[in-house]
Formats: sequence, structure tokens, C-alpha cells
Amino acid sequence: MTGVTSVSEETDRCVSEEAAGGGSEEAARGGWARLDGSLLAVAVEVLRHGPLPRAELSRRLGLSPGSLTRLTRPLLDDGLLVEGGAELQRSTGRPSVPLDVRPTSARFVGVTITADTLYAVVTDLRAEVRGHAAVALPGRSPDEVVRAVAGVVDDLSRVHGPLAGVGVGIGGLVTEHRDVVVAPFLGWEGPVPLAAPLGEAIGVPVSVDNDVRALTAAEHWFGQGRGLHSFALVTIGADVGCGLVVHDRQVCGARGLGGAIGHQPLLAVAPGGPCDLGHPGCAQAVLGTGGLTAAAAAYLGSPVTHAELLDRAAAGAAGARTGLDDAARGLALLVTGVTALADPELVLISGEGARLLELARAAFDAESARHGRPGPAPVPVRGAPIGVVDRARGAAVVAVQDHVRGDAPVA
Ligand SMILES: [Zn+2]
Repeated sequence: MTGVTSVSEETDRCVSEEAAGGGSEEAARGGWARLDGSLLAVAVEVLRHGPLPRAELSRRLGLSPGSLTRLTRPLLDDGLLVEGGAELQRSTGRPSVPLDVRPTSARFVGVTITADTLYAVVTDLRAEVRGHAAVALPGRSPDEVVRAVAGVVDDLSRVHGPLAGVGVGIGGLVTEHRDVVVAPFLGWEGPVPLAAPLGEAIGVPVSVDNDVRALTAAEHWFGQGRGLHSFALVTIGADVGCGLVVHDRQVCGARGLGGAIGHQPLLAVAPGGPCDLGHPGCAQAVLGTGGLTAAAAAYLGSPVTHAELLDRAAAGAAGARTGLDDAARGLALLVTGVTALADPELVLISGEGARLLELARAAFDAESARHGRPGPAPVPVRGAPIGVVDRARGAAVVAVQDHVRGDAPVA
């Protein structure tokens, strides 16, 4: 397979042989399998924020220095935590030895599935991308997708070593990190089991999740949401979606539909016509690629692709800018609803349509202000990563989270 390329030097290929899919949970998850409660909280805090001085770790977790020493001793003995270089403590001038994890102690593959291509990355425990691959999808049946994902995982594993987990992100409704309930772009109406057959094929724990939720997981643990207890990530593209983190956990909802705001009503009638489900003015009809280009075509007097529309707006074409301003006002209404519901610390805008925010920021801000309230400052709204590599990395982070928490569906 020629699509596998390494983007960085492998420095420490130290995933244990057992982690390649041995029988017991401990064999599969290494030292993480022995952690729960406070021990797991300490290790996860260091994974997400390390290297961390002990005093800072005590403060973050509300632990006394004595309790922290007692908790970290077995983690250091196990090699799950390591001591980094000494830094001088600001208050005393004495050296403080920060605690860290060994990011290279485990490898993960994240895969995002599009209608015709699989994009995959290899990451370490901290979601640093160490290699990637892209392969054409030979067909869209569940069997063909499982074979194609297993093939690319196998190819990457040969180059990068044994894997501790595999994450798969898919544009659809996924339950329990296992089964795809519906994935319209593949024509799947399920439930279609995906984690189980894939885990059987590759012998590594597999976690499946919605691709927006996967992108949100990456921002939560290792991106702009790191350190925040609540934030939202809104994606704009062919579809409109949202990942929501509240109380430091991502919201899934009772049926896996938490954050599914794509068909939330925004306007009585969208200028580009109804969405593909026939809703007259839902978020997708206003902001989705199809609705946005249909509305812009009316202003411009001729059909336009999504990329052309954004480029023409960037170049200052009046009709294109008017279309984007309308959509940006719709985005402001959507974000106003999200912030009213969850009161997040930050809202990130992602997806191939996210340039809308940059190109029509004034219209977005003006509409947001019209719906403002007295009290705290408005929630900051910023752009976020949008590429397929970011999506694949998000899928890898789902696998990392399940690996350290012990939440992965068993292969
Ligand atoms: Zn709709």
C-alpha cells in the first residue's frame, strides 16, 4: 500500500508486545487498567496538562501534598508517570520536579471515513500525529468498509508498531462507541455493528464515534478546550453539527443525539430553500453547503460552488458577501441558542464552512449583539481545526480516552 507515509521520526517504539491485543484487560491497557478513582484522576490530569509540578497538580485536584505523594508513588513505580526536568518553584526558589507521562508509551490509529476515502493517522498517547495514510474506499457496504479500515490499520501498524487502540469517526449517529445507527452518506440504516467486526479483524480494541464528537474530544483533551470545563464546537459543512462539553464531560444524550443541532429551526424560511428533510428554515437549510450556495446563486445570478462562494466573498464580490452575511446572521442565532442552553466558556466553529465566520465576522458579531443580555461578557467564538487529518486525529483521541478510562468496547 503506497498511501502510508511517516511524518515524523519514531523516537520510542516502546508499546509492549502485550498491548498488541493480548487476552486480559491489563495486557491490553498496561498500567492504566489498574487505575480508578483518584489514581486515574491524577494520571489523566498529567496526561492532559503535563508536565506538571507537584504543587500545581495538588492545586488542580484539590489534594494535600501528602495525599498526592501517596497517590503518585505507585504511578511512578509502574512507570506510568515519570519525573521530568527540575524547575525552580516561584515561591521558594527550590527545585520542583514536574510529573509527566511517557507519550510514546502507546500508539493509536484514528480513522475518519468519508464517502469515498479513508483518512488515517497514527498518534501517541498525547495525540501527536506520527504518521498518516489515505486510501480509496472500494465500496460503501459495511463489509467493504471494515476490510478497508482493517487494511489501513494493518499497514500503519507494520510501520509504526503495535497499537493500543483504534478510533473510527463517522458522519452519523453512533451508540456506545460500537454501532452505527444511521450514516446517510454511506447509505447505512442500522444499527450496523462496526466496533465488534473491526476489533475481530485487527485484534485491537476499537471505539467508534460520531466525527463531530471525535473532533470535540480532541479539542477537549489536547486542543483549545484543554483546561476548560465547558465548551461547544459547532461544525458547518454539508451538515451542521455540534459537540458539547459540560462539567468536563462530553454530552452524548439519552440516545446518542446530544449536540445534533443540524435541523434546529433558525428562520421561518431559509433563502436557499428547505433542507433535504424538507425543513423550511433549519440550521442546515441556512448554513449547510447546499442551502448556502443556493441562496448565494440567487444573489449572484448564476450557480456557484461552496469553495467559489467563499473565494469570491474573500475577494469582495458584493453578491457573495451578501449571501455570507445572511448565513453569518443565521450562525449567530444558532450560537446564541447553544450558549443559552449550556453557558459554555468558549464556542469553536469548525468544518469546511468555518471560513464563513472569518469572512462575515461583522455580520455575525452584529447579530450576536442584537440578542445579547446584560451580565457577564459574551462567550468568545473562535475558529478551530477543520481538515481531514484533524478529524482522523479526533478519532484517535476517542481511542486514547477509552484506553485510559477503560471504556473501549472489548475487541
Ligand atoms: Zn433540516
